Amino acid sequence: MTEDNIRVVLVHPTHPGNIGGVARAMKNMGLTRLVLVEPREHPAPEARWRAASAGDVLEAAQVVATIEEAVAGAQFIVGTSARERRIPWPVQDARRCGERIHSHARGGEQVAIVFGREDRGLLNEELELCNLHCHIPSHEAYPSLNLAMAVQILCYEVRMAALGTSEGTEEDAVWDTPFAPAEDMARFYQHLEETLVQIGFLDPQAPRQLMRRLKRLYNRVRLDEMELNILRGILSETQKQRR
Ligand code: SAH
Repeated sequence: MTEDNIRVVLVHPTHPGNIGGVARAMKNMGLTRLVLVEPREHPAPEARWRAASAGDVLEAAQVVATIEEAVAGAQFIVGTSARERRIPWPVQDARRCGERIHSHARGGEQVAIVFGREDRGLLNEELELCNLHCHIPSHEAYPSLNLAMAVQILCYEVRMAALGTSEGTEEDAVWDTPFAPAEDMARFYQHLEETLVQIGFLDPQAPRQLMRRLKRLYNRVRLDEMELNILRGILSETQKQRR
């Protein structure tokens, strides 16, 4: 089922009430896979109470120690941010994100929607893991929504896309090779950085924005497993020549 391919990730949620509210928001819209990265307090009675009839989603929530574990296997990652363009990255509103999330999941891809801490949102290095950023176009006088409310809006848009008769987005075209999951992308970036340092292109003392720009490039296009293997092969050969 399409919904089973979609997971909601909460990074370091502080308030158990929000975790419960998120479980309910998800279940109301037909989503059930909740992943918690180091929640401050879990399980907690307040979460259970706020989840109401979504206690099953709450109890089934997977608890992990790092965001990397939370997005393992994900081939399309959407990071949500209250502030517009904290770092320049492809960004779309919740409606457009909902459509893309649904259409990728319907195509059999693993999708993660990542939400940040109540006080600080997502850190830059967390946002850099994402293919796309989502900003709910709130009023500039107070742009930051309550965490569970933000999750509600995203889940609603995913549901609307699922209910819609839309034929999906243009990115939908059948692809012959699966897209690379997050952990393979992480290894690729490590390999790339290592090689760029070895050939003297990247100065570790003055890295500037190089790795961020390269991540943005590759995350924007999304690499399939074949393309990733070609690039890894080029890197290995480059390292070999260097030696
Ligand atoms: N002070 C924090 C606000 C975090 S709100 C900041 O400025 O980043 C907690 C989380 O709710 C955010 O990390 C994001 O996942 C989600 N959220 C809140 N408002 C949002 C908005 N307008 N668009 C998208 N996500 C939002």
